Amino acid sequence: MIRPRRTPASARLFAAASRILPGGVDSPVRAFKSVGGAPIFIRRAKGARIEDADGHEYIDYVMSWGPLIHGHAPKGLLKALAAAAARGTSFGAPTELETHLGRRVATLMPSIERVRFVSSGTEAAMSAVRVARAATTRDKIVKFEGCYHGHADGFLVQAGSGALTLGVPTSPGVPAAAAAETLLAKYNDLASVDALFDRHRDQIAAVIVEPIAGNIGVVPPRDGFLAGLRDTCTRHGALLIFDEVISGFRAAAGGAQQIYGIKPDLTCLGKIIGGGLPVGAYGGRADLMSLVAPAGPVYQAGTLSGNPLAMTAGLWSLGELSPKLYRHLAKLGARLAAGLADAAREADVPMQVNAYGSLVTPFFTSQPVRDLQSAMTADTARYAAFFQGMLAQGIYPPPSQFEAWFLSGAHTEKDVDKTVRAAYAALTNLT
Ligand code: PMP
Repeated sequence: MIRPRRTPASARLFAAASRILPGGVDSPVRAFKSVGGAPIFIRRAKGARIEDADGHEYIDYVMSWGPLIHGHAPKGLLKALAAAAARGTSFGAPTELETHLGRRVATLMPSIERVRFVSSGTEAAMSAVRVARAATTRDKIVKFEGCYHGHADGFLVQAGSGALTLGVPTSPGVPAAAAAETLLAKYNDLASVDALFDRHRDQIAAVIVEPIAGNIGVVPPRDGFLAGLRDTCTRHGALLIFDEVISGFRAAAGGAQQIYGIKPDLTCLGKIIGGGLPVGAYGGRADLMSLVAPAGPVYQAGTLSGNPLAMTAGLWSLGELSPKLYRHLAKLGARLAAGLADAAREADVPMQVNAYGSLVTPFFTSQPVRDLQSAMTADTARYAAFFQGMLAQGIYPPPSQFEAWFLSGAHTEKDVDKTVRAAYAALTNLT
């Protein structure tokens, strides 16, 4: 038997939060709805570890959902932030930091000739689509079932991540007219994309895709899928938008586009680009980005866009990316994926482990997971029990079956081995 940890302080804090914040949180998946119980409240974190309000320590696999590729609170970042804060926290006027970070992004991702900084991945995806619509004078977009591109109206159609967990295929409050412009295709299924282009000839502005899907849980693209999308878009005069909010700077320094050798017209970025502070960005071909105000007529703005603290954190984070880091992440990811798969086999629990580098998802199903449909065969009740078993042993996996586990440079082989041992115990403890 694995005994749950006692977390009275977290329970108290959650009760207090629930009286003022809807559901007690500021982003749905944090509330543990799909795994049960009250969420743990975080007091502090360092490296790969978080500490909750009751003083329990956990190896963290959420890592703020991706931004913290260098771990929690790295010294160099704290120093850079303190120095930046002393110079002022926000100006609403340009600083050279934005140029520096912009240049660094363009160097790492050569498809990005011009870039605009925003404050979240949601804004990045929403704005990229606006540019695509303006450039093509078409309104429809194609997205994939289970992919998540933030919570803008047109994207909340069969969206992944928290929307998937909560079973809200199309959120109330999204006008039918907004949802109607979003066409749905199947991830890893080019024929489903071609069928949409046949049916909506000359009406599709863009195809937006997570080149390595992360919000169904991890689902890598099949051979030829991304190249096929590139061809189809080019043939039909539509733009290809890569949402690399998760994969950017994580799958490789140059993102999935570098790995698969595909040049998207526009790219959405977030998470690592802000090093744990609120940053998103969209960028791409200079002719497209020159449509953005004030260079062009497509309006998009932000009080805190290009914020000096956020730019500083981004510059530090991108500056620390190195081949050594990616080798470490690949090794750890492979070790975790293999360890979880072995543990499941030994415990006789059906499991498919999908992984790409430092992104890993154990799906509680016997079917290979290649798209939303196959992911949905996962036994979410089992995942919930597994999650609780892990939490009780000081491991903090994502509180949902349909999310990626995130590794960082601060995780060690020892951490992963401890996690795998805990997983074996949690799996054998499943009823
Ligand atoms: N796109 C992708 C691929 C994401 O994973 C996310 C968030 N997890 C977003 C967009 C939205 O980013 P944000 O939460 O910063 O608005």
